[in-house]
Amino acid sequence: MTPVPTSFRAIGAVLCTVAVVVATLFATSSIERGAADRGYEGTQTAQTLLNTMLDRETGLRGFLETGDETFLAPYMSGSARFTAAVKRAESYAHGVPAADQALGEQELLAARWQGVAQAVITLARHHGVHHLSLKDALTRKRIMDSFRAANASYLAAMNARRVHLLSVATALSTWIVVGLSLLLTLTGLWLVRVNFRRERKAQEALRAVELRRDAREREYVEDRRRFAEVVQVSETEDEARELIKRRIETGLQGAQVTVLSRNNSADRLEAATPLDKGPLAKALEGAKPRSCLAIRLGREHEERGAHTGSAVACEICGETGSRSLCEPLLVSGEVIGSLLISHEDPLNEQGRRLINETVTYTAPVLANLRNLAIAERRAHTDSLTGLPNRRALDDTFRLLIAQAGRSLTPLSAMLIDLDRFKDVNDTYGHDRGDEVLAAMATTLKESVRTSDFAARLGGEEFLVLLPNTDPTTAGVVAEGIAKSLAKTSVHGMEQMVTASFGVAGYPMHGADMPNLLRSADRALYQAKRDGRDCVRVATAMTGRDEALASVPAGMAEPI
Ligand code: GH3
Ligand code: MG
Ligand code: MG
Repeated sequence: MTPVPTSFRAIGAVLCTVAVVVATLFATSSIERGAADRGYEGTQTAQTLLNTMLDRETGLRGFLETGDETFLAPYMSGSARFTAAVKRAESYAHGVPAADQALGEQELLAARWQGVAQAVITLARHHGVHHLSLKDALTRKRIMDSFRAANASYLAAMNARRVHLLSVATALSTWIVVGLSLLLTLTGLWLVRVNFRRERKAQEALRAVELRRDAREREYVEDRRRFAEVVQVSETEDEARELIKRRIETGLQGAQVTVLSRNNSADRLEAATPLDKGPLAKALEGAKPRSCLAIRLGREHEERGAHTGSAVACEICGETGSRSLCEPLLVSGEVIGSLLISHEDPLNEQGRRLINETVTYTAPVLANLRNLAIAERRAHTDSLTGLPNRRALDDTFRLLIAQAGRSLTPLSAMLIDLDRFKDVNDTYGHDRGDEVLAAMATTLKESVRTSDFAARLGGEEFLVLLPNTDPTTAGVVAEGIAKSLAKTSVHGMEQMVTASFGVAGYPMHGADMPNLLRSADRALYQAKRDGRDCVRVATAMTGRDEALASVPAGMAEPI
Protein backbone atom coordinates (compact mmCIF):
# COMPACT_ATOMS: atom_id res chain seq x y z
CA MET A 1 0.00 0.00 0.00
CA THR A 2 1.30 3.45 -0.91
CA PRO A 3 2.00 5.45 2.29
CA VAL A 4 0.04 8.73 2.69
CA PRO A 5 2.40 11.73 2.66
CA THR A 6 2.96 13.40 6.06
CA SER A 7 1.63 16.78 4.82
CA PHE A 8 -1.68 15.16 3.80
CA ARG A 9 -1.92 13.43 7.18
CA ALA A 10 -1.32 16.74 9.00
CA ILE A 11 -3.98 18.55 6.93
CA GLY A 12 -6.41 15.66 7.63
CA ALA A 13 -5.70 15.82 11.38
CA VAL A 14 -6.28 19.61 11.46
CA LEU A 15 -9.55 19.30 9.53
CA CYS A 16 -10.76 16.50 11.84
CA THR A 17 -9.87 18.55 14.93
CA VAL A 18 -11.69 21.63 13.58
CA ALA A 19 -14.77 19.50 12.76
CA VAL A 20 -14.79 17.93 16.24
CA VAL A 21 -14.38 21.35 17.95
CA VAL A 22 -17.16 22.92 15.84
CA ALA A 23 -19.46 19.94 16.52
CA THR A 24 -18.71 20.15 20.23
CA LEU A 25 -19.35 23.89 20.38
CA PHE A 26 -22.61 23.37 18.53
CA ALA A 27 -23.61 20.52 20.86
CA THR A 28 -22.76 22.42 24.06
CA SER A 29 -24.54 25.58 22.92
CA SER A 30 -27.55 23.43 21.97
CA ILE A 31 -27.56 21.85 25.41
CA GLU A 32 -27.38 25.25 27.12
CA ARG A 33 -29.98 26.77 24.84
CA GLY A 34 -32.29 23.78 25.44
CA ALA A 35 -31.89 24.12 29.18
CA ALA A 36 -32.58 27.88 29.02
CA ASP A 37 -35.63 27.38 26.79
CA ARG A 38 -37.06 24.70 29.05
CA GLY A 39 -36.44 26.80 32.17
CA TYR A 40 -38.05 29.81 30.54
CA GLU A 41 -41.08 27.83 29.40
CA GLY A 42 -41.46 26.43 32.95
CA THR A 43 -41.61 29.93 34.41
CA GLN A 44 -43.97 30.98 31.62
CA THR A 45 -46.50 28.37 32.76
CA ALA A 46 -46.70 30.13 36.13
CA GLN A 47 -47.51 33.36 34.36
CA THR A 48 -50.12 31.63 32.17
CA LEU A 49 -51.83 30.08 35.24
CA LEU A 50 -51.96 33.44 37.00
CA ASN A 51 -53.11 35.32 33.89
CA THR A 52 -55.90 32.81 33.28
CA MET A 53 -57.13 33.21 36.84
CA LEU A 54 -56.91 37.01 36.64
CA ASP A 55 -58.76 37.03 33.30
CA ARG A 56 -61.54 34.94 34.85
CA GLU A 57 -61.76 37.15 37.93
CA THR A 58 -61.80 40.32 35.79
CA GLY A 59 -64.50 38.89 33.50
CA LEU A 60 -66.58 37.86 36.55
CA ARG A 61 -66.24 41.32 38.08
CA GLY A 62 -67.30 42.97 34.85
CA PHE A 63 -70.43 40.83 34.78
CA LEU A 64 -71.18 41.39 38.48
CA GLU A 65 -70.85 45.16 38.09
CA THR A 66 -72.84 45.53 34.89
CA GLY A 67 -74.94 42.38 34.62
CA ASP A 68 -73.74 42.13 31.03
CA GLU A 69 -73.27 38.48 30.07
CA THR A 70 -70.58 39.33 27.45
CA PHE A 71 -68.14 40.04 30.29
CA LEU A 72 -68.36 36.35 31.22
CA ALA A 73 -66.61 35.25 27.99
CA PRO A 74 -63.09 35.16 29.58
CA TYR A 75 -64.60 33.43 32.57
CA MET A 76 -66.27 30.76 30.41
CA SER A 77 -63.17 30.05 28.29
CA GLY A 78 -60.86 30.47 31.27
CA SER A 79 -61.74 27.07 32.77
CA ALA A 80 -60.53 25.19 29.68
CA ARG A 81 -57.48 27.41 29.34
CA PHE A 82 -56.67 26.90 33.02
CA THR A 83 -56.94 23.08 32.63
CA ALA A 84 -54.63 23.22 29.56
CA ALA A 85 -52.20 25.45 31.45
CA VAL A 86 -52.21 23.04 34.41
CA LYS A 87 -51.45 20.16 32.06
CA ARG A 88 -48.49 21.97 30.57
CA ALA A 89 -47.33 23.06 34.01
CA GLU A 90 -47.49 19.45 35.22
CA SER A 91 -45.09 18.36 32.51
CA TYR A 92 -42.62 21.04 33.66
CA ALA A 93 -43.21 20.48 37.39
CA HIS A 94 -42.65 16.75 37.05
CA GLY A 95 -39.72 15.77 39.23
CA VAL A 96 -39.72 19.11 41.08
CA PRO A 97 -41.55 18.43 44.38
CA ALA A 98 -41.92 22.09 45.42
CA ALA A 99 -43.37 23.05 42.03
CA ASP A 100 -45.59 19.99 42.03
CA GLN A 101 -46.96 20.90 45.43
CA ALA A 102 -47.50 24.57 44.52
CA LEU A 103 -49.27 23.50 41.34
CA GLY A 104 -51.54 21.18 43.32
CA GLU A 105 -52.39 24.07 45.66
CA GLN A 106 -53.19 26.31 42.71
CA GLU A 107 -55.52 23.64 41.30
CA LEU A 108 -57.34 23.31 44.63
CA LEU A 109 -57.63 27.08 45.03
CA ALA A 110 -58.79 27.42 41.42
CA ALA A 111 -61.47 24.78 42.10
CA ARG A 112 -62.56 26.60 45.25
CA TRP A 113 -62.65 29.92 43.38
CA GLN A 114 -64.62 28.24 40.62
CA GLY A 115 -67.20 27.04 43.18
CA VAL A 116 -67.64 30.51 44.74
CA ALA A 117 -67.71 32.17 41.31
CA GLN A 118 -70.34 29.80 39.98
CA ALA A 119 -72.57 30.41 43.03
CA VAL A 120 -72.25 34.19 42.61
CA ILE A 121 -73.07 34.01 38.90
CA THR A 122 -76.18 31.89 39.58
CA LEU A 123 -77.29 34.35 42.30
CA ALA A 124 -76.77 37.33 40.04
CA ARG A 125 -78.72 35.76 37.22
CA HIS A 126 -81.71 34.96 39.47
CA HIS A 127 -81.76 38.00 41.71
CA GLY A 128 -79.79 40.63 39.97
CA VAL A 129 -76.34 41.93 40.66
CA HIS A 130 -77.58 44.27 43.44
CA HIS A 131 -78.28 41.40 45.76
CA LEU A 132 -74.68 40.23 45.93
CA SER A 133 -72.96 40.23 49.29
CA LEU A 134 -69.57 41.66 50.21
CA LYS A 135 -68.74 38.41 51.92
CA ASP A 136 -68.59 36.52 48.61
CA ALA A 137 -66.32 39.13 47.16
CA LEU A 138 -64.00 38.90 50.16
CA THR A 139 -64.00 35.08 49.93
CA ARG A 140 -62.92 35.33 46.28
CA LYS A 141 -60.29 37.91 47.16
CA ARG A 142 -58.84 35.65 49.86
CA ILE A 143 -58.81 32.70 47.42
CA MET A 144 -57.12 34.83 44.76
CA ASP A 145 -54.53 36.04 47.29
CA SER A 146 -53.79 32.44 48.28
CA PHE A 147 -53.66 31.55 44.57
CA ARG A 148 -51.14 34.34 43.97
CA ALA A 149 -49.02 33.06 46.86
CA ALA A 150 -49.14 29.45 45.53
CA ASN A 151 -48.38 30.76 42.02
CA ALA A 152 -45.41 32.72 43.39
CA SER A 153 -44.16 29.51 45.13
CA TYR A 154 -44.65 27.66 41.87
CA LEU A 155 -42.74 30.38 39.97
CA ALA A 156 -39.94 30.32 42.55
CA ALA A 157 -39.69 26.53 42.24
CA MET A 158 -39.65 26.79 38.45
CA ASN A 159 -37.02 29.54 38.60
CA ALA A 160 -34.92 27.37 40.90
CA ARG A 161 -35.37 24.54 38.42
CA ARG A 162 -34.39 26.82 35.56
CA VAL A 163 -31.24 27.85 37.38
CA HIS A 164 -30.54 24.19 38.14
CA LEU A 165 -31.07 23.17 34.51
CA LEU A 166 -28.80 25.95 33.35
CA SER A 167 -26.05 25.02 35.80
CA VAL A 168 -26.37 21.35 34.80
CA ALA A 169 -26.16 22.33 31.12
CA THR A 170 -23.17 24.58 31.81
CA ALA A 171 -21.46 21.82 33.79
CA LEU A 172 -22.25 19.32 31.06
CA SER A 173 -20.86 21.66 28.40
CA THR A 174 -17.80 22.29 30.50
CA TRP A 175 -17.24 18.57 30.98
CA ILE A 176 -17.77 17.93 27.31
CA VAL A 177 -15.22 20.64 26.42
CA VAL A 178 -12.82 19.37 29.10
CA GLY A 179 -13.35 15.78 27.94
CA LEU A 180 -12.88 16.75 24.35
CA SER A 181 -9.78 18.77 25.16
CA LEU A 182 -8.46 15.79 27.09
CA LEU A 183 -9.33 13.49 24.21
CA LEU A 184 -7.70 15.80 21.68
CA THR A 185 -4.64 16.21 23.88
CA LEU A 186 -4.35 12.45 24.37
CA THR A 187 -4.94 11.85 20.67
CA GLY A 188 -2.34 14.48 19.87
CA LEU A 189 0.10 12.91 22.30
CA TRP A 190 -0.65 9.48 20.90
CA LEU A 191 -0.12 10.76 17.37
CA VAL A 192 3.11 12.46 18.41
CA ARG A 193 4.21 9.20 20.06
CA VAL A 194 3.20 7.15 17.02
CA ASN A 195 4.95 9.61 14.77
CA PHE A 196 8.00 9.67 16.99
CA ARG A 197 8.11 5.87 17.03
CA ARG A 198 7.65 5.74 13.29
CA GLU A 199 10.40 8.29 12.79
CA ARG A 200 12.66 6.44 15.20
CA LYS A 201 11.95 3.20 13.36
CA ALA A 202 12.63 4.90 10.03
CA GLN A 203 15.87 6.34 11.44
CA GLU A 204 16.86 2.95 12.80
CA ALA A 205 16.10 1.33 9.43
CA LEU A 206 18.11 4.06 7.70
CA ARG A 207 20.95 3.57 10.14
CA ALA A 208 20.83 -0.18 9.59
CA VAL A 209 20.97 0.38 5.84
CA GLU A 210 23.91 2.76 6.30
CA LEU A 211 25.68 0.28 8.55
CA ARG A 212 25.12 -2.51 6.04
CA ARG A 213 26.34 -0.23 3.24
CA ASP A 214 29.40 0.76 5.30
CA ALA A 215 30.12 -2.89 6.08
CA ARG A 216 29.76 -3.77 2.39
CA GLU A 217 32.00 -0.84 1.47
CA ARG A 218 34.64 -1.91 4.02
CA GLU A 219 34.46 -5.47 2.74
CA TYR A 220 34.78 -4.23 -0.83
CA VAL A 221 37.73 -1.96 -0.02
CA GLU A 222 39.45 -4.78 1.87
CA ASP A 223 38.79 -7.14 -1.01
CA ARG A 224 40.18 -4.54 -3.43
CA ARG A 225 43.27 -4.08 -1.25
CA ARG A 226 43.87 -7.84 -1.14
CA PHE A 227 43.32 -8.10 -4.88
CA ALA A 228 45.74 -5.22 -5.59
CA GLU A 229 48.28 -6.88 -3.28
CA VAL A 230 47.98 -10.26 -4.99
CA VAL A 231 47.89 -8.90 -8.51
CA GLN A 232 51.01 -6.80 -7.82
CA VAL A 233 53.00 -9.94 -7.10
CA SER A 234 51.77 -11.84 -10.16
CA GLU A 235 54.70 -13.35 -11.95
CA THR A 236 53.17 -13.66 -15.37
CA GLU A 237 50.57 -11.91 -17.45
CA ASP A 238 48.54 -15.12 -17.52
CA GLU A 239 48.45 -15.24 -13.73
CA ALA A 240 47.35 -11.60 -13.52
CA ARG A 241 44.68 -12.11 -16.20
CA GLU A 242 43.35 -15.16 -14.36
CA LEU A 243 43.10 -13.06 -11.16
CA ILE A 244 41.20 -10.31 -13.02
CA LYS A 245 38.81 -12.83 -14.52
CA ARG A 246 38.18 -14.54 -11.20
CA ARG A 247 37.66 -11.27 -9.31
CA ILE A 248 35.05 -9.89 -11.71
CA GLU A 249 33.28 -13.21 -12.22
CA THR A 250 33.06 -13.68 -8.43
CA GLY A 251 31.82 -10.12 -7.85
CA LEU A 252 29.31 -10.06 -10.71
CA GLN A 253 26.90 -12.95 -10.79
CA GLY A 254 26.52 -14.53 -14.20
CA ALA A 255 29.33 -12.49 -15.73
CA GLN A 256 31.88 -13.97 -18.11
CA VAL A 257 35.19 -12.21 -18.49
CA THR A 258 37.56 -12.43 -21.44
CA VAL A 259 40.84 -10.56 -21.47
CA LEU A 260 41.69 -9.48 -24.99
CA SER A 261 45.34 -8.90 -25.69
CA ARG A 262 46.77 -6.69 -28.39
CA ASN A 263 49.50 -8.44 -30.37
CA ASN A 264 51.17 -5.53 -32.13
CA SER A 265 53.80 -7.51 -34.02
CA ALA A 266 51.15 -9.71 -35.63
CA ASP A 267 48.54 -6.91 -35.71
CA ARG A 268 46.08 -9.24 -34.02
CA LEU A 269 43.62 -9.12 -31.16
CA GLU A 270 43.64 -12.37 -29.23
CA ALA A 271 41.79 -13.87 -26.29
CA ALA A 272 44.37 -14.08 -23.49
CA THR A 273 42.09 -16.11 -21.20
CA PRO A 274 40.52 -19.52 -22.01
CA LEU A 275 37.60 -19.18 -24.37
CA ASP A 276 34.86 -21.70 -25.25
CA LYS A 277 33.82 -22.18 -28.84
CA GLY A 278 31.04 -19.72 -29.52
CA PRO A 279 30.18 -16.41 -31.15
CA LEU A 280 33.01 -14.59 -29.36
CA ALA A 281 35.65 -17.14 -30.41
CA LYS A 282 34.30 -16.87 -33.97
CA ALA A 283 34.37 -13.05 -33.88
CA LEU A 284 37.98 -13.16 -32.71
CA GLU A 285 39.13 -15.29 -35.64
CA GLY A 286 41.47 -13.01 -37.56
CA ALA A 287 40.40 -10.01 -35.47
CA LYS A 288 42.65 -6.96 -35.50
CA PRO A 289 43.08 -4.59 -32.52
CA ARG A 290 40.96 -1.97 -34.28
CA SER A 291 38.07 -4.47 -34.54
CA CYS A 292 37.45 -3.77 -30.85
CA LEU A 293 35.62 -0.47 -30.49
CA ALA A 294 36.87 0.08 -26.92
CA ILE A 295 40.48 -0.26 -28.11
CA ARG A 296 39.86 1.92 -31.14
CA LEU A 297 38.16 4.71 -29.15
CA GLY A 298 40.25 4.29 -26.01
CA ARG A 299 37.13 4.33 -23.82
CA GLU A 300 34.53 1.88 -22.55
CA HIS A 301 32.00 0.49 -24.96
CA GLU A 302 28.70 -1.06 -23.98
CA GLU A 303 26.45 -3.43 -25.92
CA ARG A 304 22.91 -3.76 -24.60
CA GLY A 305 22.00 -7.07 -26.21
CA ALA A 306 20.71 -8.36 -29.52
CA HIS A 307 17.33 -6.66 -29.53
CA THR A 308 18.22 -3.15 -28.45
CA GLY A 309 20.15 -2.16 -31.52
CA SER A 310 23.24 -0.02 -31.30
CA ALA A 311 24.20 2.87 -33.53
CA VAL A 312 27.84 1.77 -33.62
CA ALA A 313 28.26 -1.97 -33.12
CA CYS A 314 31.61 -3.46 -32.17
CA GLU A 315 32.95 -6.11 -34.53
CA ILE A 316 33.81 -8.29 -31.54
CA CYS A 317 31.25 -7.90 -28.75
CA GLY A 318 28.54 -6.72 -31.15
CA GLU A 319 28.66 -10.20 -32.70
CA THR A 320 27.92 -12.04 -29.46
CA GLY A 321 24.37 -10.71 -29.23
CA SER A 322 24.55 -10.51 -25.45
CA ARG A 323 24.84 -7.65 -22.99
CA SER A 324 28.46 -6.70 -22.53
CA LEU A 325 30.82 -4.01 -21.35
CA CYS A 326 34.28 -3.65 -22.85
CA GLU A 327 36.93 -1.61 -21.02
CA PRO A 328 40.20 -0.71 -22.74
CA LEU A 329 43.37 -1.55 -20.79
CA LEU A 330 45.11 1.79 -20.98
CA VAL A 331 48.62 2.50 -19.77
CA SER A 332 50.18 5.92 -20.32
CA GLY A 333 47.86 6.56 -23.25
CA GLU A 334 48.66 3.24 -24.90
CA VAL A 335 45.96 0.56 -25.21
CA ILE A 336 47.46 -2.85 -24.44
CA GLY A 337 44.19 -4.77 -24.80
CA SER A 338 40.70 -4.78 -23.38
CA LEU A 339 38.51 -6.48 -20.83
CA LEU A 340 35.28 -7.85 -22.22
CA ILE A 341 32.57 -8.62 -19.67
CA SER A 342 29.43 -10.40 -20.85
CA HIS A 343 26.64 -10.15 -18.30
CA GLU A 344 23.04 -11.32 -18.11
CA ASP A 345 21.50 -8.56 -15.98
CA PRO A 346 21.99 -4.82 -16.53
CA LEU A 347 25.01 -3.54 -14.62
CA ASN A 348 24.39 -1.56 -11.46
CA GLU A 349 26.65 1.16 -10.05
CA GLN A 350 28.58 -1.29 -7.86
CA GLY A 351 29.18 -3.61 -10.80
CA ARG A 352 30.55 -0.80 -12.93
CA ARG A 353 32.75 0.34 -10.06
CA LEU A 354 34.15 -3.17 -9.65
CA ILE A 355 34.98 -3.34 -13.36
CA ASN A 356 36.43 0.17 -13.59
CA GLU A 357 38.58 -0.19 -10.50
CA THR A 358 39.78 -3.65 -11.49
CA VAL A 359 40.84 -2.26 -14.86
CA THR A 360 42.49 0.79 -13.29
CA TYR A 361 44.44 -1.38 -10.86
CA THR A 362 45.47 -4.08 -13.26
CA ALA A 363 46.25 -2.31 -16.53
CA PRO A 364 49.66 -1.01 -15.29
CA VAL A 365 50.42 -4.39 -13.74
CA LEU A 366 49.67 -6.17 -17.02
CA ALA A 367 51.78 -3.63 -18.91
CA ASN A 368 54.68 -4.09 -16.48
CA LEU A 369 54.47 -7.85 -16.73
CA ARG A 370 54.38 -7.63 -20.51
CA ASN A 371 57.42 -5.34 -20.59
CA LEU A 372 59.15 -7.64 -18.14
CA ALA A 373 58.35 -10.67 -20.29
CA ILE A 374 59.61 -8.85 -23.39
CA ALA A 375 62.80 -7.82 -21.57
CA GLU A 376 63.25 -11.35 -20.29
CA ARG A 377 62.68 -12.82 -23.72
CA ARG A 378 65.19 -10.38 -25.14
CA ALA A 379 67.69 -11.24 -22.42
CA HIS A 380 67.33 -14.91 -23.25
CA THR A 381 67.24 -14.57 -27.01
CA ASP A 382 70.10 -14.09 -29.42
CA SER A 383 69.23 -11.06 -31.49
CA LEU A 384 71.05 -12.21 -34.63
CA THR A 385 69.56 -15.68 -34.96
CA GLY A 386 66.43 -15.49 -32.80
CA LEU A 387 67.59 -18.63 -30.98
CA PRO A 388 67.77 -18.86 -27.18
CA ASN A 389 71.15 -17.66 -25.96
CA ARG A 390 73.62 -19.00 -23.41
CA ARG A 391 71.63 -17.49 -20.50
CA ALA A 392 68.47 -19.31 -21.56
CA LEU A 393 70.42 -22.51 -22.00
CA ASP A 394 71.43 -22.94 -18.37
CA ASP A 395 67.86 -23.08 -17.02
CA THR A 396 66.61 -25.36 -19.77
CA PHE A 397 69.63 -27.64 -19.53
CA ARG A 398 69.11 -28.14 -15.78
CA LEU A 399 65.38 -28.73 -16.29
CA LEU A 400 65.86 -31.31 -19.06
CA ILE A 401 68.53 -33.18 -17.08
CA ALA A 402 66.21 -33.28 -14.06
CA GLN A 403 63.33 -34.57 -16.19
CA ALA A 404 65.54 -37.21 -17.81
CA GLY A 405 66.83 -38.32 -14.41
CA ARG A 406 63.30 -38.59 -13.04
CA SER A 407 61.83 -40.42 -16.03
CA LEU A 408 65.00 -42.54 -16.59
CA THR A 409 65.09 -41.51 -20.24
CA PRO A 410 68.18 -40.50 -22.20
CA LEU A 411 69.10 -36.91 -23.07
CA SER A 412 71.63 -35.96 -25.73
CA ALA A 413 73.66 -32.78 -26.08
CA MET A 414 74.92 -31.82 -29.56
CA LEU A 415 77.65 -29.16 -29.88
CA ILE A 416 78.03 -27.61 -33.32
CA ASP A 417 80.90 -25.38 -34.50
CA LEU A 418 81.01 -23.91 -38.00
CA ASP A 419 84.20 -24.87 -39.83
CA ARG A 420 86.75 -22.24 -40.65
CA PHE A 421 84.30 -19.48 -40.08
CA LYS A 422 87.04 -16.96 -39.63
CA ASP A 423 87.85 -17.49 -43.28
CA VAL A 424 84.23 -16.76 -44.21
CA ASN A 425 84.44 -13.45 -42.42
CA ASP A 426 87.79 -12.68 -43.91
CA THR A 427 86.71 -13.58 -47.43
CA TYR A 428 83.14 -12.31 -47.60
CA GLY A 429 82.97 -9.81 -44.81
CA HIS A 430 81.38 -9.79 -41.38
CA ASP A 431 77.86 -9.13 -42.68
CA ARG A 432 77.93 -12.16 -44.86
CA GLY A 433 79.24 -14.08 -41.85
CA ASP A 434 76.16 -12.92 -39.94
CA GLU A 435 73.94 -14.20 -42.72
CA VAL A 436 75.67 -17.57 -42.51
CA LEU A 437 74.97 -17.67 -38.79
CA ALA A 438 71.29 -16.82 -39.41
CA ALA A 439 71.07 -19.50 -42.12
CA MET A 440 72.57 -22.01 -39.72
CA ALA A 441 69.94 -21.09 -37.12
CA THR A 442 67.14 -21.55 -39.66
CA THR A 443 68.52 -24.94 -40.64
CA LEU A 444 68.67 -25.95 -37.01
CA LYS A 445 65.10 -24.84 -36.29
CA GLU A 446 63.84 -26.78 -39.28
CA SER A 447 65.83 -29.90 -38.47
CA VAL A 448 64.96 -30.51 -34.82
CA ARG A 449 61.70 -31.46 -33.10
CA THR A 450 59.59 -28.95 -31.20
CA SER A 451 60.52 -30.75 -28.00
CA ASP A 452 64.24 -30.29 -28.78
CA PHE A 453 66.06 -27.19 -27.66
CA ALA A 454 68.44 -25.38 -30.02
CA ALA A 455 70.53 -22.44 -28.76
CA ARG A 456 73.44 -20.26 -29.90
CA LEU A 457 76.24 -20.58 -27.39
CA GLY A 458 78.17 -17.66 -28.82
CA GLY A 459 80.30 -16.91 -31.92
CA GLU A 460 79.74 -19.70 -34.45
CA GLU A 461 78.95 -22.34 -31.83
CA PHE A 462 75.51 -23.88 -31.32
CA LEU A 463 74.04 -26.45 -28.94
CA VAL A 464 71.04 -28.71 -29.40
CA LEU A 465 69.52 -30.63 -26.48
CA LEU A 466 67.47 -33.64 -27.50
CA PRO A 467 65.29 -35.08 -24.74
CA ASN A 468 64.39 -38.79 -24.82
CA THR A 469 67.13 -39.35 -27.42
CA ASP A 470 70.19 -41.59 -27.02
CA PRO A 471 73.60 -40.41 -28.38
CA THR A 472 73.50 -42.78 -31.33
CA THR A 473 70.17 -41.37 -32.53
CA ALA A 474 71.42 -37.84 -31.81
CA GLY A 475 74.43 -38.60 -34.04
CA VAL A 476 72.03 -39.51 -36.83
CA VAL A 477 70.14 -36.23 -36.27
CA ALA A 478 73.51 -34.40 -36.45
CA GLU A 479 74.23 -35.98 -39.77
CA GLY A 480 70.86 -34.81 -41.04
CA ILE A 481 71.69 -31.28 -39.93
CA ALA A 482 75.06 -31.49 -41.68
CA LYS A 483 73.32 -32.56 -44.89
CA SER A 484 70.79 -29.74 -44.69
CA LEU A 485 73.64 -27.30 -44.05
CA ALA A 486 75.44 -28.54 -47.10
CA LYS A 487 72.38 -27.61 -49.15
CA THR A 488 72.18 -24.15 -47.61
CA SER A 489 73.43 -21.37 -49.83
CA VAL A 490 74.08 -17.82 -48.81
CA HIS A 491 73.65 -15.11 -51.39
CA GLY A 492 76.99 -14.00 -52.87
CA MET A 493 78.96 -16.93 -51.42
CA GLU A 494 80.20 -19.76 -53.54
CA GLN A 495 81.84 -21.56 -50.63
CA MET A 496 79.82 -24.33 -48.94
CA VAL A 497 79.21 -23.93 -45.22
CA THR A 498 80.11 -26.94 -43.11
CA ALA A 499 80.18 -27.66 -39.41
CA SER A 500 81.67 -30.15 -36.96
CA PHE A 501 79.43 -31.96 -34.46
CA GLY A 502 80.22 -33.37 -31.00
CA VAL A 503 77.49 -35.50 -29.35
CA ALA A 504 77.32 -36.77 -25.77
CA GLY A 505 74.52 -38.55 -23.87
CA TYR A 506 73.16 -38.29 -20.35
CA PRO A 507 73.86 -40.08 -18.10
CA MET A 508 76.53 -42.26 -19.71
CA HIS A 509 78.80 -39.33 -20.78
CA GLY A 510 78.09 -36.98 -17.94
CA ALA A 511 75.73 -37.04 -14.95
CA ASP A 512 75.44 -33.27 -14.85
CA MET A 513 75.52 -30.28 -17.16
CA PRO A 514 79.25 -29.40 -16.99
CA ASN A 515 80.37 -33.00 -17.49
CA LEU A 516 77.91 -33.64 -20.31
CA LEU A 517 79.01 -30.44 -22.07
CA ARG A 518 82.64 -31.33 -21.53
CA SER A 519 82.09 -34.72 -23.17
CA ALA A 520 80.28 -33.12 -26.11
CA ASP A 521 83.11 -30.57 -26.41
CA ARG A 522 85.70 -33.31 -26.51
CA ALA A 523 83.73 -35.12 -29.19
CA LEU A 524 83.60 -31.85 -31.15
CA TYR A 525 87.32 -31.34 -30.72
CA GLN A 526 87.83 -34.81 -32.06
CA ALA A 527 85.64 -34.01 -35.08
CA LYS A 528 87.81 -30.95 -35.78
CA ARG A 529 90.92 -33.04 -35.47
CA ASP A 530 89.44 -35.60 -37.78
CA GLY A 531 89.22 -33.06 -40.57
CA ARG A 532 85.99 -31.20 -39.75
CA ASP A 533 82.54 -31.57 -41.45
CA CYS A 534 81.87 -34.73 -39.45
CA VAL A 535 80.01 -36.02 -36.38
CA ARG A 536 81.70 -37.55 -33.37
CA VAL A 537 79.91 -39.20 -30.42
CA ALA A 538 81.52 -39.45 -27.03
CA THR A 539 82.26 -42.86 -25.49
CA ALA A 540 81.38 -43.66 -21.86
CA MET A 541 83.40 -41.53 -19.40
CA THR A 542 86.09 -43.38 -17.50
CA GLY A 543 87.72 -40.45 -15.84
CA ARG A 544 89.77 -37.53 -17.01
CA ASP A 545 91.10 -39.22 -20.16
CA GLU A 546 88.03 -41.23 -21.13
CA ALA A 547 87.96 -42.36 -24.67
CA LEU A 548 85.63 -40.93 -27.23
CA ALA A 549 84.08 -43.19 -29.78
CA SER A 550 82.07 -42.56 -32.89
CA VAL A 551 78.88 -44.52 -33.25
CA PRO A 552 77.04 -43.55 -36.43
CA ALA A 553 78.05 -44.92 -39.74
CA GLY A 554 79.09 -42.71 -42.59
CA MET A 555 80.44 -39.36 -41.46
CA ALA A 556 80.48 -40.29 -37.81
CA GLU A 557 83.58 -42.31 -37.09
CA PRO A 558 84.62 -43.83 -33.76
CA ILE A 559 87.36 -41.99 -31.83
P1 GH3 B 1 87.50 -23.86 -36.81
O1 GH3 B 1 87.14 -24.60 -38.00
O2 GH3 B 1 88.73 -24.41 -36.12
O3 GH3 B 1 86.42 -23.68 -35.87
O4 GH3 B 1 87.97 -22.43 -37.30
P2 GH3 B 1 87.17 -21.16 -37.15
O5 GH3 B 1 87.73 -20.09 -37.99
O6 GH3 B 1 85.71 -21.34 -37.28
O7 GH3 B 1 87.42 -20.79 -35.64
P3 GH3 B 1 87.85 -19.52 -34.89
O8 GH3 B 1 87.52 -19.65 -33.44
O9 GH3 B 1 89.31 -19.27 -35.18
O10 GH3 B 1 87.06 -18.33 -35.48
C1 GH3 B 1 85.76 -18.03 -35.11
C2 GH3 B 1 85.36 -16.80 -35.78
O11 GH3 B 1 84.01 -16.51 -35.68
C3 GH3 B 1 86.10 -15.61 -35.21
C4 GH3 B 1 85.06 -14.53 -35.18
O12 GH3 B 1 85.44 -13.42 -35.92
C5 GH3 B 1 83.84 -15.14 -35.81
N1 GH3 B 1 82.69 -14.69 -35.18
C6 GH3 B 1 82.35 -14.86 -33.89
N2 GH3 B 1 81.14 -14.32 -33.64
C7 GH3 B 1 80.70 -13.77 -34.83
C8 GH3 B 1 79.56 -13.07 -35.24
O13 GH3 B 1 78.62 -12.81 -34.47
N3 GH3 B 1 79.47 -12.69 -36.55
C9 GH3 B 1 80.43 -12.95 -37.43
N4 GH3 B 1 80.28 -12.55 -38.67
N5 GH3 B 1 81.52 -13.57 -37.05
C10 GH3 B 1 81.70 -14.00 -35.79
MG1 MG C 1 84.55 -21.79 -32.63
MG1 MG D 1 84.65 -22.63 -35.98
